[in-house]
This record gives sequence, C-alpha cells and structure tokens, in this order.
Amino acid sequence: MKDKVSKNFFGVAILNVIITLAEFIGGFMSGSLALLSDAVHNLGDVGAIILSFVAHLVGKKKQNSNKTFGYKRAEIIAAFVNAFILLAMTVYLVIEAFERLNDQVTIDGELMLIIAVIGLIANFISMLIMHQHSKDNVNIKSVFLHMLSDALSSIGVIIAAILINVYHIMWVDAAITVIVSVVLAYEAIKILKNTLNILMESNPDIDLKKVESDLCQFELINTIHHVHVWQFSDSEIMLDAHVNVNPKIKVSQLDGLYDQINRVLKQNFGISHVTIQVESARGLNEKIIPHGENEK
Ligand SMILES: [Zn+2]
Ligand SMILES: [Zn+2]
Repeated sequence: MKDKVSKNFFGVAILNVIITLAEFIGGFMSGSLALLSDAVHNLGDVGAIILSFVAHLVGKKKQNSNKTFGYKRAEIIAAFVNAFILLAMTVYLVIEAFERLNDQVTIDGELMLIIAVIGLIANFISMLIMHQHSKDNVNIKSVFLHMLSDALSSIGVIIAAILINVYHIMWVDAAITVIVSVVLAYEAIKILKNTLNILMESNPDIDLKKVESDLCQFELINTIHHVHVWQFSDSEIMLDAHVNVNPKIKVSQLDGLYDQINRVLKQNFGISHVTIQVESARGLNEKIIPHGENEK
C-alpha cells in the first residue's frame, strides 16, 4: 500500500462501497428502480476495482524462473475482465430499462434526487483521483472510463429524478438508462478489443516491410525472415527475428550491429525488446511471417 497508485485504488474502492450502500438504501426507500440498478452497477464496479487493484499489485512482482516475462499481463487480463463485466452490465441495464417501461411504481423523486447527487459527487472525486494515472496504463484507463460512465449515469438519474418530481414523467428514466448503456457499451468494446489484441499477441500496427527495409540498410544485413512482433504490456513492444548477415562478418562485429538494430527499432517503431537470431544462408527462402501468406 506504499505507492500512490495503490492508495488511490483503495480510496476509489472505499468511495464506491459508500455510493453502492447509499444507492441500495435510497433505491429501496424511494422505490426508484433507476437508483437500484445504479446500485447494482456500482456493486459490480467495486468488484472490478478490487480486481484491478489486485492485478496492479501482482503486476509489480519481479520476474522469476517460472514467470520470465514477469506479471505485467495480469493488468491486461484484469482490464479485459473489467470491460467484459461492464459490457454484461449494459445488457442488464437495457433489459432493466425496457422492463421499467411497464412498471407503474410511485417513486419518491426527492430522495432519489438527493442520493443521485451524492452519487455524482462521489463519482466525480473518484474520477479526479484516477485521471492522474489514466494516460499510460490501459488498466487504470479502463477504471477511469468506468468512473466517467458512472458519473454520466448519475447525471441521468438526476435528470430522471427532476422530471419525476416536476412533471411526473416516468418513462424518461428508462430512456436515459438506454442512452447511457449504449455509450458504456461502446467504451467497453473498445477496451475489450484493445486488451484482446494484446492477449492474442497481435501486431500493434508495425509495418513489417518497413522493418525489413530499415534493417537491410545496414551493410552487414542481407535480409530478414521469421519475424514476430507483439505488444507485451501497454508500454512495451517486443520483436524477434532471424537476420541473414554477410557470411564474412566477425562475431566481434555483432555487438555493434545489435546496438544499431536496437536503436533503429526503438527510434522508428518504439520497439523496446529485441531478440535476433543471426544466420548466413540458413532460411534465406523463408518469409517474414513464418508460414505466412506474405510474398517474398
Ligand atoms: Zn460503472
Ligand atoms: Zn531462420
């Protein structure tokens, strides 16, 4: 609990427990289904935040002989699960909203409004805390987006509460729930795609033809083949490749060549971890992508 991110996770989790309790009690007392479903949403959030928090702690563990890559992927998996839960919630909210259209319940609009405002303030504080860290970490970003959608749904509940108070229009409640759910689902699908790509070792948009031409500019390099490139965590891209070099090369020249390769791949593509297998004639006819469909 010493580092700042851990403290922030803890603070946000506590805040969300308070919002959840307030909304459950307020939802039952006011008879508002909107508040109750928002409470269910926040209950799911508390679980997701705890999941992210644990993943963050696990991600800091050092590499060892069993986990030579370390534990950073734990955060990616947590972000994926977070987004999946979020998406499931949007489905639940939409179903809930359509059921609410048929409900004829008397709602205490005033109590609903008070609780929703408290929820919004708590969400706003959570957002401020998480926003400081949301720039370079997919996981914290997913929690932040979550808070943002929570704040939006609190605003939705506030608008519904005002309309119930002043005009006694009940269906606005359901309509706002559907709109907020669609926005939420959109954000969730973006995170799902992003984290799935990392878990599938997808190429993070690196032009392999450009990698080839950049490396072949070195006099000692003739061609490259059997390349793998993948996003390891949200801040690290890794590459490994077979490189056919001039057969006259001296082993003592390799260190300098590797330094040059690392520099070019870092500067031009942001690749921070490179593994090269040097060959002379071996694999000359192989493709850039092993067993792939690219022409060579
Ligand atoms: Zn949420
Ligand atoms: Zn090879």
